[in-house]
Amino acid sequence: MLERLRIPQDLLRRPAVFNPLPSPTYNCPLCQDRGVVLQGGKAYRCRCMKQKTLQNRFRLANLTPQLRRFTFENFDLKYYSRPHLESARRCLEAAKKFVASCLKDPHTKGLFLFGPVGSGKTHLAAAIANSLVNAGKQVLFTVVPDLLDELRSTYDRRPEDDSYTELELLDTARKAEVLILDDLGSHNYTEWTCNKIYSLINSRLMNELPTVVTSNLDLKELEEYLGERTVSRLVQLCYPYNLPVEEDIRYVRSREEYETLK
Ligand SMILES: [Zn+2]
Repeated sequence: MLERLRIPQDLLRRPAVFNPLPSPTYNCPLCQDRGVVLQGGKAYRCRCMKQKTLQNRFRLANLTPQLRRFTFENFDLKYYSRPHLESARRCLEAAKKFVASCLKDPHTKGLFLFGPVGSGKTHLAAAIANSLVNAGKQVLFTVVPDLLDELRSTYDRRPEDDSYTELELLDTARKAEVLILDDLGSHNYTEWTCNKIYSLINSRLMNELPTVVTSNLDLKELEEYLGERTVSRLVQLCYPYNLPVEEDIRYVRSREEYETLK
């Protein structure tokens, strides 16, 4: 038989002391989210802040989690067979050299990486961006079709909108310490888009700012889409490197993944 629980009357009258506030939880127990830790009477920047700065830099660089995974270490030369292996190795070396040079000289000449779809150009471009961000450089990774879409969308912008203006967007790309233009390909270029790309490339060249461009078109093909004046600036801005491959690496990787499944 259950005994009736006797609750002292004064306890019932007390306010909510039964539910004490949960003890505070901090994202960083080390500094209790203050960003600094005291040690021996001195204040030090907590390592969570260093982490946050780095994350912020990746975010500002426009590097998505997927792009962040690409490194020089996981750029696998096994996907390039005999006739292409040498070119792939040259591209990898050029990319590493570009990073090393960028860290010493803010006016390093850039790279133009071209080759078929799925040859690893974006991988190399992202690996460059990741290395530089990790080393503290300000990088902006842009996918050209997205950038053009964004630029166009600024025209629908109402004055009260908080979004970027065209000038702000282009200015960010013009002035980034290092700019990556991924996938400068065979889009539907109008005179308007051609002019935007020209002005961006020209501005990077005039200010001698390091720029990496990837494309599935070679310079001759690109000239048909963008015109001679843009391509002639591009050649001055970047050293061209060809990255050929027999089969789209994304297909090969996908098959490998499937075949290792049990
Ligand atoms: Zn902390």
